[in-house]
Amino acid sequence: MSPSPETLMQYLLMLKNKGISDQRVLHAMELIPRDPFATGAFQDRAYEDTALPIASGQTLSQPSIVGKMTQALNAGPRDKVLEIGTGTGFQAAVLSQLARRVYTVERFAKLARTANRTLNDLGLVNVTVITGDGSLGLPNQAPFDRIILTAAAEDPPANLLAQLKEGGIMVLPVGQSSTVQTLIKITKTSGGLDYQELQEVRFVPLVAGLA
Ligand code: SAH
Repeated sequence: MSPSPETLMQYLLMLKNKGISDQRVLHAMELIPRDPFATGAFQDRAYEDTALPIASGQTLSQPSIVGKMTQALNAGPRDKVLEIGTGTGFQAAVLSQLARRVYTVERFAKLARTANRTLNDLGLVNVTVITGDGSLGLPNQAPFDRIILTAAAEDPPANLLAQLKEGGIMVLPVGQSSTVQTLIKITKTSGGLDYQELQEVRFVPLVAGLA
């Protein structure tokens, strides 16, 4: 099922009103339907700006937050991107339209399988889903131009910072509490790391080890 033209128009207008101004991001989100990533009855609410529950007690992120994070990540057509926290695969699907290659790691094998199927059904061949502990990164594919975490860490994981190229960007929610976290953008420069706080967000926690 793809959204009706009216639903799609309202969805894009909502994203613009929430501060998504990068045309490439808006276009990517126009091309990737969100309903295939939602579960059962929640598909009816796929174009609302709300997070939706998925299997294994996890969530499909709010679309305006996906847009904000994608915009902050600023991935280009030559970039190799690592995502930690595949969930449904929606964020990875959006990134697949902007980057050369997307690797996405999920600790629940069941979620990884479902995400892989959805991405295949949509014909998104430049995304690879891996079941594993994303806090370790993906050493055999490192370094990455961009790294995005869609689960909240207490601090930016050192393993991931080490797998980011110089000039690379990492976007992630950080915070101790499960209710309030801060979305941050880290740029790796020759001199070290630049930190920029973007906004408050709420994500499920990054949990070490396989589920
Ligand atoms: N990006 C997803 C939403 C993410 S929800 C989407 O677009 O649908 C966060 C996900 O991170 C959950 O599925 C959770 O299982 C996963 N996660 C948490 N800790 C992890 C870890 N250490 N390694 C890999 N995945 C992890």
